[in-house]
Amino acid sequence: MATLAEVLARETREGDLYDTLPDGRLRCVACGHCCPLPEGAIGVCKVRFNEGGRLRVPWGYVGGVQCDPIEKKPFFHAHPGALAYSFGMLGCDLHCAYCQNWVTSQAIRDPAAVAAPLRMSPERLVQEALAQRARVVVSTYNEPLITSEWAVAVFKEARAAGLSTAFVSNGNGTPQVLEYLRPWVDLYKVDLKSFDARHYRELGGRIEPILDTIRRLHALDIWVEIVTLLIPGFNDSRDELSRLSSFVASVSPDIPWHVTAFHGDYKMTDPENTTADMLLTAADIGRASGLRYVYAGNLPGEVGGLEDTRCSGCGALLVGRYGYHIREYHVTSDGRCPSCGASVPGRWSDRFDGQIASRPFIPGTRRFTIFSSQ
Ligand code: SF4
Repeated sequence: MATLAEVLARETREGDLYDTLPDGRLRCVACGHCCPLPEGAIGVCKVRFNEGGRLRVPWGYVGGVQCDPIEKKPFFHAHPGALAYSFGMLGCDLHCAYCQNWVTSQAIRDPAAVAAPLRMSPERLVQEALAQRARVVVSTYNEPLITSEWAVAVFKEARAAGLSTAFVSNGNGTPQVLEYLRPWVDLYKVDLKSFDARHYRELGGRIEPILDTIRRLHALDIWVEIVTLLIPGFNDSRDELSRLSSFVASVSPDIPWHVTAFHGDYKMTDPENTTADMLLTAADIGRASGLRYVYAGNLPGEVGGLEDTRCSGCGALLVGRYGYHIREYHVTSDGRCPSCGASVPGRWSDRFDGQIASRPFIPGTRRFTIFSSQ
């Protein structure tokens, strides 16, 4: 019986994101690890490998698809109420002990994570997104940077169909992959997991490429929102949150920062769950650092007004939320506050057509072919 890794190794094509080094090794530049790969070697992500002097990369399948309210990604300043047709492949370049998508992200690294890939084409994915009335197509669930070639193929189809596109990513990018993505990605969520280099090493990465990615995304005019999962005892010290939010504000005070509540998952079940008071304290720190749009997530109804968007000029309510549900919407058709006329940073639809779904759901996967690992 073939292993999952062997099955996935067949579902590949030559990638675009690599160079050949003078000694004949390949250097993959899809993520910040920049793995040097001799003949036959596989990258840290376990899905890109050197075969015969060419880099093979994942192609032609998804690890899962789901329709999510865009608020779940979370994007709060991009097409509120829209349906985000979300797909993922398999594998990740980090190995966070608290990963909430570990079944797909750690599918090859961890034998307990069993995720069946579904054979797929970009055309079918986009047809399905349109059939579901999605507004945005999102690469998520695993780390999309390591499968960027496939994401771009899907996004080209999505753009041709009039849809917007998004990455939900750990941000461990390179200048090369961001240039590669720039023409095709409209929205980009970065998980800024910590502001401590030691913590990032524990997760299997380095903080520098992530901070560089955030700066570059903003400079490239891709809409960026930042999420920090607040884990008691890991990243919730006042000093760390102050440095982290000050960094985001230094890139732009208009970047939304979401602090979200942790609950025990995967291999990290020891820390207590994050409380609403912890989120409120973190949000205060973010605002004191100069951020204009700070949100508290994962505890609907417990965080006062920290689920809502208010005008940074006059304080008027622009978007009222409860969890993923849009309660009120007042942004004008040209993306302004109706009370004072201030421009609201983000990507706004011409009009709010109501919310298509306030809960995630799985579209009709029975029409897709499930691989056999035998
Ligand atoms: S995507 Fe990252 S981890 Fe995977 S081979 Fe490329 S550089 Fe290495």
